[in-house]
Amino acid sequence: MDSEALWKKFSLAYRKYKANKYDFCVCFTCGIAKKYKDMDTGHYIDRRHGAVKFNPLNIEIQCRVCNRFKSGNLDIYKKNIIRKYGKEVEEMLQEEARNGIEMKEEEVLFLIDYYKNLKLQRQWTPSTNQ
Ligand SMILES: [Zn+2]
Repeated sequence: MDSEALWKKFSLAYRKYKANKYDFCVCFTCGIAKKYKDMDTGHYIDRRHGAVKFNPLNIEIQCRVCNRFKSGNLDIYKKNIIRKYGKEVEEMLQEEARNGIEMKEEEVLFLIDYYKNLKLQRQWTPSTNQ
């Protein structure tokens, strides 16, 4: 499977995982909520940097306005990454983008299964927060 086909599978599994039981998820950079099918899976560091293309720390739900028309809304994305994970993780992602290697297909397929399983688990566990 080529890397873009793999990305499409990953993106869909990720957005489904992040969606609540009404299929809504929230944009990481502006806070708007929409159905997962109308949202994007956005990168902090552009996915042309293959090493961080599938790194979950580099990936968040974004609306199409932020991801496509505001080119990722990166000032706010950066601020929120630092708030969520810390400055060290932001720096690590920059380093990985420069010097890391792209995940193998089987590693990405493992991640896709991981998100699918988490989603199933959540559906079967009524007390879990979304
Ligand atoms: Zn947005």
